[in-house]
This record gives sequence, C-alpha cells and structure tokens, in this order.
Amino acid sequence: MTQMVDYADAVRRYDPVLGIEVHVELGTRTKMFCPAEASFGAEPNTQTTPVSLGLPGALPVVNGTAVEYAIRIGLALNCQIAESCRFARKNYFYPDVPKNFQTSQYDEPIAFEGWLDVELEDGTIHRVEIERAHMEEDAGKNTHVGGSTGRIHGAEYSLVDYNRAGIPLVEIVTKPITGVGDRAPEVARAYVQALRDIFRVLDVSEARMERGNVRADVNVSLRPTAESPLGTRTETKNVNSFRSVERVVRHEISRQAVALDAGETIVQETRHWHEDTGVTTSGRVKSDAEDYRYFPEPDLVPVEPSREWVEEIRATLPELPQARRRRLQTEWGYADAEMRDVVNAGAIELIEATVAAGSSPAAARKWWMGELARRAKQDEAELADLPITPAQIGELQGLVDAGRINDKIARQVLDGVLAGEGDPESVVVSRGLEIVSDDGALLAAIDEALAAQPDVVEKVRGGNQGPVGAIIGAVMKATRGQADAKRVRELVLERIGA
Ligand code: MN
Repeated sequence: MTQMVDYADAVRRYDPVLGIEVHVELGTRTKMFCPAEASFGAEPNTQTTPVSLGLPGALPVVNGTAVEYAIRIGLALNCQIAESCRFARKNYFYPDVPKNFQTSQYDEPIAFEGWLDVELEDGTIHRVEIERAHMEEDAGKNTHVGGSTGRIHGAEYSLVDYNRAGIPLVEIVTKPITGVGDRAPEVARAYVQALRDIFRVLDVSEARMERGNVRADVNVSLRPTAESPLGTRTETKNVNSFRSVERVVRHEISRQAVALDAGETIVQETRHWHEDTGVTTSGRVKSDAEDYRYFPEPDLVPVEPSREWVEEIRATLPELPQARRRRLQTEWGYADAEMRDVVNAGAIELIEATVAAGSSPAAARKWWMGELARRAKQDEAELADLPITPAQIGELQGLVDAGRINDKIARQVLDGVLAGEGDPESVVVSRGLEIVSDDGALLAAIDEALAAQPDVVEKVRGGNQGPVGAIIGAVMKATRGQADAKRVRELVLERIGA
C-alpha cells in the first residue's frame, strides 16, 4: 500500500501544475493516409491496406477531410492555423505500430497558440492555454491474453488488431496549467469535458469516451510555491473517463507530496492508472523527444491550407457550447445558479426540447430539475434515460396551463407516463384525472359535506370563515383531489349564504 498524504494537506504545501494531452479520433470514413475504412467494431484486421500495415513500398496520401477537421478543432480552440506544416516520423518499435514509426507532426503542427476557457461547476472560469494541436495517426490495438490484469505483464500471448492503425487523430497539448491550486483535479476534468463537448458540436468525432475516441495523458508536477521553477512531472497515459482524469490528478498530487516530503526526487516517467484500486503505477522512464529520432516524413508533401479555405471553415463553425449556454440562459431568463444546475444535470437539451414543445422555460426547468431529477436520482438513472420525452412534458404542462389538471394531479399523470401508460392526455383520460369543474358534480359533493358538518356551517354563518377549509377539504377528498379548489370555495360560501 502506497503511503499517502492527505490531499488538502498536499495542496496547502505544494503548488500543482498540470499539462494535458488529449487525443481525439476523428470521425472520418477512411484512415489518415489510406482508403481503409475507419469505422469501429469490425472483425480484427479486416480494415487494413498496405499503407496501414506498413508494407514496403506503400505510399501514404493525406486524408483531406481529416485536415479540415483538424483545422476546425484548431479554430474552435482559438489557435492560429499554420500556412504550411509537415508530417514527421516518430520512431519507436512496438507491435501495434507496424511501420516502426508513427506518422505525426513535430516542429510544424497544423494549429498552435490557442486557449480555451473552462467553466467549473460553481461557475469559476479558468483559461487553459493551448500550445498546439497536431495531426497524427492512431496505433493498432494489442490484446494481452492470459494474465489477470489485461496488461502485458503476466500475459501468455498477445494479439494485434490493425483496424485502428492509421485512424486519424488530433492531439491537443496544453501549456503548463498553473494557478489552479486545490482545484487542479476539477480543472483537469472540466477541460477534458469541455473538449469532448466541442468535438461533438464540431461534428469531427463521436467523442465517445467509453470507446476510447477521446483519451487524455495527464501530466502532474508539484513545486514548493507558485514562484518556484516547475517540478519534475509524471505522465499518466490513456485516461479515458472524466472521473478518472479527476482522480488521477488527485492521486498524483498526494503521491508526489509523499515522495517530496521524504526528500526523494520525482522520476520523469509514464504511469498507468488503475481504475479499480485508484492508484497509478510506474510505466516506463519517459523518453525525451530526441529518443524518437523525429525527422520530416519524406513520403508526404507539406500541408498548406489556403487562407481562403481556413476562413471558409471559420465561417461555418457551429455555435460552441459555452456561447450556446450563455445564449440559452438569456433566452430562458435563468439566474446563474439555476443555469449551472441545469448544465451540471445535463438537462440543457431536454429543456430546450421541452420549450420547443410549447412549455415556458420556467415550467420546463421546474419539471426536469424538480420532480424528474428526484425520480432519476431515486432510480440512479440519467435524466435523459427516464422513459419520458420533452414533448410529453410539454404536453403535460399544456394540460396544467389549460386548467384541465392541477400541479398535484400532474404528478399522477407523470406516474402514468413513466409507467408506460401513454401520453399525458391519454393517461388523464384512462385514469379519470381531469379536474371536476362542472358545478353540478361539485354541488352534489358540497351538499354532502355540508350535511355532514352542520357545526361548521353554523360557525361560517356566524361570520367566522376560518372553518370553511374543513368543508373544502372534504369536497377535495370526495373528488379525489380533482376539484378546482378555488371554485369549490366560491360554491361553498354561496351555498352557506355567507
Ligand atoms: Mn500523440
């Protein structure tokens, strides 16, 4: 068991600095340098060409769509787009890299010098500076068989699937992220999450974390104070969930604090994250860039996106998530805290669709963030997974607005919809939930209640309207809550002659 320092204690005594490298697999139909299919889930080694297998003499050709996607990402991250850039060979020997080098970009990335404002759950904004976004290709996938951990250590043999080899990637590298203090884990998580959201609206990737479409390498270092030079960093590789990104940062801060307290030096190395035990373990001593013997790829011409093309792409960028949130907040008239709750609950799309279905923004928020959030929590489900649609909530609220049901009955209608009994309208009909506003039906119930409580009638006639509630209550009970309470009150007073 690794000895740990309490996290709060560690961040009091050390200043954490982050660096995050995010790889995103682009959703192009074909691979980065050859026409092999790039789709997910095919039989192993059925989506290859001589290029992606690295066969001698095979020549790569750049995928134009991948370049366009890379430019889109660069622009969305406020980067400059290179007028000319080159690919480079990153040389290393590993079974999932059949060419013995990865075609990447080194000193000439396609996009550089950008930034992204990241919003934390409490609304704090932290600007993350982006050093570069470059194009490269994915490696194949090794499967280690026979061990208990799925890692190579202890495995009996390994299998390689080259379907993924050559799928286009964009790697986004931050500058050192400083000034985050005890919020380092949150910033790291929010940054990766913000990138994922951007990839999705840009439509450059499905960006599904669970499929490894987005993977983060998380660099963490500590230094005594914010004025000290940067400490030695560790790089935890291939973290593929938001929660894990947060946990890795937290863990590394505590672990490194122990080492530094003991007077040890931090080794610059890659580390592996173990989801089950919540710890990182040492991988390999990190190669410096020189060890990769980068050199310009001689088989590919430089990529020179014209300024016209870049501006064309810029002009077609969709509204980005943060701008969209601000616009919707203004349109909906939500307070900052209300909007944050909506965002954190992942309810923006649901509310947007509910409003489109005719509900007021206030009513839409009330349903999704109130009753439905409560039920989702109770079922440990996501809001979006509840068996009810925004259109149905719009219809439900329409029934309330029309005075056909009240809020209390609406909850029963909700029960019916969630139980699969159909749309709100049909649940109202089949359960007989419509408000009784027909005076004839109400008067029958009122007369019965008056006859049962002559003492109350006496008091009200005497000028004391207080006890009238007892009569109204009896009528509501007799009509199973479906009476219009305001109308009942009017009729009761009329009847008593008060
Ligand atoms: Mn990379």
